[in-house]
Order: sequence, then C-alpha cells, then structure tokens
Amino acid sequence: MCGIVGYIGYEDVKEIILSGLEKLEYRGYDSAGIALVNEDGVNIFKDKGRIKDLRSIVDENVKSYLGIGHTRWATHGVPNRINSHPHQSCSKRFTLVHNGIIENEVDLRNKYLSDVHFESDTDTETIVQLIQKFVDEGEAVELAIRHTMSEIQGSYALAILDKDDPNTIYAAKNKSPLLAGIGEGFNMIGSDAMAMISRTNMFYELEDKEFIKITKDSIDIYTIYGAKIDKKPFKADIDLSDIEKGIYPHYMLKEIEEQPFVIRKIINQYSNENGYPYIEKEIIDDVKDCDKVYIIACGTSYHAGLVGKQLLEKIANKPTEVIIASEFVYNMPLLSKKPLFLFISQSGETADCRSVLVKIKKMGYKSLTITNVKGSTLSRESDYTLLLHAGPEIAVCSTKAYTAQIAVLSILTTLVNNTISIDIFKELSKIANVMESLCDNVDLYRKLAEDYLLGQRSCFYIGRHIDYFVCLEAALKLKEISYIQTEGFAAGELKHGTIALIEDRTPVIAIITQEAINLNTRSNIKEVKARGANTLVITMKKLSTETDQIVIDDVHEMLSPLVAIISAQYIAYYAALQRGCDIDKPRNLAKSVTVE
Ligand code: GLU
Repeated sequence: MCGIVGYIGYEDVKEIILSGLEKLEYRGYDSAGIALVNEDGVNIFKDKGRIKDLRSIVDENVKSYLGIGHTRWATHGVPNRINSHPHQSCSKRFTLVHNGIIENEVDLRNKYLSDVHFESDTDTETIVQLIQKFVDEGEAVELAIRHTMSEIQGSYALAILDKDDPNTIYAAKNKSPLLAGIGEGFNMIGSDAMAMISRTNMFYELEDKEFIKITKDSIDIYTIYGAKIDKKPFKADIDLSDIEKGIYPHYMLKEIEEQPFVIRKIINQYSNENGYPYIEKEIIDDVKDCDKVYIIACGTSYHAGLVGKQLLEKIANKPTEVIIASEFVYNMPLLSKKPLFLFISQSGETADCRSVLVKIKKMGYKSLTITNVKGSTLSRESDYTLLLHAGPEIAVCSTKAYTAQIAVLSILTTLVNNTISIDIFKELSKIANVMESLCDNVDLYRKLAEDYLLGQRSCFYIGRHIDYFVCLEAALKLKEISYIQTEGFAAGELKHGTIALIEDRTPVIAIITQEAINLNTRSNIKEVKARGANTLVITMKKLSTETDQIVIDDVHEMLSPLVAIISAQYIAYYAALQRGCDIDKPRNLAKSVTVE
C-alpha cells in the first residue's frame, strides 16, 4: 500500500521524487509529503490529497540533492496535514517516512516515550521519536536505528534522514516492500521498481529486518545486528512504456485491452522449444503428488482461484479447496494428509497471503505462488513461482491479472492431468482472438452501462456453475469503481431471500456460458423480470437467443470465464466513467494490500 521514494545524488531532487510518487499513485493513498534537505535544513511539504496538490505546495525555490517522499494510506489517525508523512523527532533532528503498521506502538510509548510530546496520531511517529531517544541516550545513529528496529513489531518500510548528516539516507524494512535503486553518481530507494525506472533499472531487493545506508556513491546493506551483507543486484524487466497510459484515458481501459496480448504472451512463456505447454517438472510432480490443493487468495485473485478449483477438479481430478487468506490465518480448516498450498496474488505482496505462507511453512508444507511480480515477497518465500507475464497492472481494479491467473492455472491443470483432453494452447489462442473481437464492441458496452446502470443504486450479477464465480468477479469490478452496490449471486439462490431486493428497474445481469445450466438460469431471469428487474444477458453464441444483449463467440466451456468477464469489465468501466468516478484510483482502495 502507498509508497516511498528517496533520492541522493547530483540533480535537483523535487521532480525526481514527485514523479516517482506519481508512479506509485496506483497503489492507493490519501495524503502525500516530501522532505528536501539543503543548507537551510530539512524542508517539509505535506498534506492530505493527491500528488498534484502536493506539487502546488512545494516551494519551487528550494534546491536540494537529497530528499524522501511518501504517499500515505492512513491506518492510525485521519488523513490530514499533521498525520501526513514525513514525521520528525521532537528535536527535529530525524525525519522519517514509513509504510506499514507498528503493532506495539502503545507499549513502546508507555515504556520509552512517556515524557515525549507527540504531534500526530500516527504509529509512525513512535519510530522517529524512539530513534531520537536512543541517540539522546548516547547510541550512534546506525545503532539507534537498528535498536529501534529490534523494538518495533509489525510491518515497515522506512526512509530516514539525519539533519546532522546531509549526505546519507538510512532505510529499513520488515514485511513492507522496499528496493534500493543503483545509479551512477546517485542512488535511490523506493517501494517498487516503477518509482525509479526512469532513472535506473538495477536494484537491490531488500529482505526483512535489513538496514541500509545510502550515499550518492554507495549502498551498504546490513543485518539488524550490524553485519554487512553482500547482495547481488538484479535488473528489472520493465519498460517505461509499460507504465505509461499512452493514448488511453485510464490505465484500466489500457489493461482491459491488453488482455488478448497477455494471453498470447503466456502461451509463449509457457511453451517448450517444440511449442508444447511446459512448466517445471518439480512443480507438476508436487501438484500431482499432493492429495489436495489449497488455494489461498484475496479479492480478484480469490475469484480466479474459484475458477482454478473448477479446472483442477474437473480437468486434473485434483481435490481443491479455495480459502480467503485472512480467514485461513485465524480459522484453519482441518487439512488433508498431504496438502499443497497455492497462493494467488497479483503483486506478490499481499500481507494476508503472506501470513498464511509463514504459517504453513512452519508446518512444513510446500507452496507455489502465482504472481505478476518477479522477486516479490510471496514469490521469494514460496518453494515455486509461476509468473503471469501480464506486465505491470497499474489500475487498482484488476483486469488483466485476473484473466492471466486463470490462463496460467489452466496450463498448470492440463499439465498435471488432462482427463477431458484439452489442447490448451489451441483453446487459449482462440480465446485471445475472441477477446480481441469483444474489445471491438466498446460502443455497445458504453450504451448498456448507460441504459442499465445510470442513476441506479444497486445491481445483481447472477449465474450458475462456473458462471457464478465470474459473477462474483463481475460484481466486484462494478462495485469497486462505480460504487453501485453490486452482488454476485448463484442464480438459483436469489429466490431464497435476496429476490426481496428486486424493485422496478433493478438491473440484473445474467452470465450464461454453460449448456448444462442454460435453461435454469434463464428461468431465474424470468423470475426477476416478473418482479420488475431490468435484465441483461451475457452469453455464448451456441446458447444465445434473439433478445440476448451480449453474445460471445464460442470457446471451450471450462475456459469461458476468460471471455465472459471482458464485457463485465467494460460495463464497470463505462458505468464508473458516466458517474464521474476516479476509475484508476477508487476511493478507500489500495493496489497491493500490504497490511493485514
Ligand atoms: N501506519 C502509518 C500511518 O497511518 C503508515 C501508513 C502507510 O503505510 O502509509 O500513517
């Protein structure tokens, strides 16, 4: 969630940090701030609101070659100027930005800081006051920071400035992501590569409880005990054009339209030299070998996991359970004898998933992560990783990661066992073409969004079988960006209570892609229509009737979620656009949810 950028070098730092923070906007935030160091001391500009608001308050005349910036997603204290980062110690010697949550802040305040006056309501201020306290007690700065790290519990990525040493940025991390960017004559720190990619593509990945000291010519990494660590840098595989919107008004639209390309890229990345599907033998053997797959995920990835269960059970004959990560952590089901854990996370940083991973590793179980981000925490800490190859997904509302997750799951499944004999690459190629033709129908989606959703307060998606899982994802798309209260329902379940909510003109969107349930879902449409609902049908050509509004070319039934979701993504996009919502950065949401 939220982000950090820091720079020390030879160029005026303001623009480097502000544009770096803009690259992190997709992660979600409510406030932003920057600290610029020069001969006059530490200059802080901060407030709630967007980076463009921060730009308008930063003093143009302040010249500086060292600075740190922050976007905040408030956890402790309302979003306002005082709670925005950077925060300073009471003597103003130390200045700090923080991503994460300090769980024992109250204990620490009581134990060490009862005589210190706090300016803000944040947990973060405890960290900077503690560093000051230990320095005041005679500890050297580095030791005081490491000492503080050993006292604080929770998640943190920190960037710290010392007014008395204007040639250094200190940084530290635990659970929250942080990278050091390597330059010539400058160095950087940032929450992800995108914040720094316009300056460098070489990075050090930091592990939990590591501490770093950065000057313009050096990056030194230490353990929390002060032992120096030798690390290999890595080159990030991101192109600047991947993270620009280009001709598109919103990242979400760009990412919807990238889906055919992503599917083709996945085919390419998962082929062996003869063009056949390929995944490392060890992964396939371990999935074959387990007696049950436990898919652990949240949000959209959870919805992809539900489709994954269908694929694993119906195609690979492998019993599978899908569990919401935050539920599993505190309410673990009775496990089978030989489980395999499969984590799905776009960012690979989802804190809820990581808590499960830590837990099951302690229990000695194997894990596989499906993620879009190479080198992310879940990927590093799992036994195996399968990458999505979807390119950076910047809109908070996930689109291409969802279809990529299902595509990768489908390849995995057919390699584990292929009981119904699917030529997976042939089917996925066809799907990429069908997706492309769906992307040509934007006028239809715009019109349907207007006719069905403008002025509506609520909406239902209904479907049965695998379509039900697509309905859950379609409903999430619509509600998270347009704020129309939308629920995905098993079509047969509606009449057991929820049908009471159907009023005159309530939009009910049915997804029908499975022959076995076609007629049943159509009966359910009649039931809601009879009670005044305004119904819309998304279906496949072979099942379509004359009155269906969205008809999709036929694809393999087991893979229909990959195409059925496309028009729902567009409908959500246009509904949000027509209501004037901030599509790429919906309220209260963050892209990578790095707090539990
Ligand atoms: N917990 C801190 C706060 O509420 C940091 C939140 C963040 O990660 O932005 O200020």
